[in-house]
Amino acid sequence: VKEKIQSLKPNEKFISFEFFPPKTDSGFRNLLARLNRMSALNPLFITVTWGAGGSTSEKSLDLAATCQNDLGLTTVLHLTCTNTNKEIIDDALARAKRNGIRNILALRGDPPRTQEYWTPNCEFNGAVDLVKYIREQYGDYFCVGVAGYPEGHVDGSDASGQDPKKDMPYLVEKVKAGADFIITQLFFDVDKFISYEQLLQEYEELKDIPLIPGLMPITTYRVFTRASKLSHASIPREILDELEKVSNDDDAVKTLGVEILSDIVKKIDSTIGSKIKGYHFYCLNLEKAVASIVDQSEVLKPILDMPQVSAEHDDAIASE
Ligand code: FAD
Repeated sequence: VKEKIQSLKPNEKFISFEFFPPKTDSGFRNLLARLNRMSALNPLFITVTWGAGGSTSEKSLDLAATCQNDLGLTTVLHLTCTNTNKEIIDDALARAKRNGIRNILALRGDPPRTQEYWTPNCEFNGAVDLVKYIREQYGDYFCVGVAGYPEGHVDGSDASGQDPKKDMPYLVEKVKAGADFIITQLFFDVDKFISYEQLLQEYEELKDIPLIPGLMPITTYRVFTRASKLSHASIPREILDELEKVSNDDDAVKTLGVEILSDIVKKIDSTIGSKIKGYHFYCLNLEKAVASIVDQSEVLKPILDMPQVSAEHDDAIASE
């Protein structure tokens, strides 16, 4: 991923998509058909989520291998390291390598639904330990991404609330341990993302690392409010007011959602566009909203005309 980002021309932008492994075989088949169609949007890479504690390990690995090898998409496998055991992590990394997957998003993970707090195990207390472990075991074979939180992670919050500054020592540690890029938690308050990018500039270790904003298309009012709550993303008053007016009309929510996301991309590009090369979409395995955003966005539309670079080139690019 890092090399692919570096090989973009100065004015070129990219998009990437997150997928989760469907529970059923028919869901898996439907997703593959959708993924095939979504390849036409020219994502630079796609990512596959990992269920808390390794709960989706087989399905995540299957989907990631299919994306990388059968669909020719550069694939990033998410991997979490707490509430799990080392064997699951060793197995995942070995199988990722066997399947030609060159990218891991190294995460701590959230607690399973039955637990309120995450429990560190003896090997891995946080994402930094997983980054270190991947580097120790595999050297530079994997390109490693980590998570960032424009509004601060809840674990770093105190009486005064969440604050991204409090996460900085941990983010610096993750990058010093060998992380190559950062994908952020989803957000709707674009000013918070812009401040976050500026905050990273204050740290020698963070100022040049690719920072990829995470964006969630708005498909229904219910999904939007639920996802914002789960991810602790604040919603600017004007966005909430506009969406509330049409909350019972799914089509109107979708249309407005495309406008809101296109505006977010436009504002990022016009303020810190020289620093932000691409946009990661939490597309919830859905196709239409992302396709409409790309089509409607002046910043992203040119991506549709870029020549496709398939994952077969991953090794060649990585060895350049
Ligand atoms: P870390 O970077 O280890 O820590 C997060 C925060 O916790 C730090 O910023 C800091 O505030 C605090 N912290 C860390 N270490 C310490 C310490 N030693 N002392 C005090 N405070 C500390 N979850 C899944 O289960 N599966 C997924 O596929 C998945 N994908 C994700 C993709 C993205 C892009 C993002 C942003 C999140 C994803 N998550 C996923 C959620 C993630 O696992 C949770 O947000 C988790 O709570 C933190 O993971 P992390 O890797 O950011 O943790």
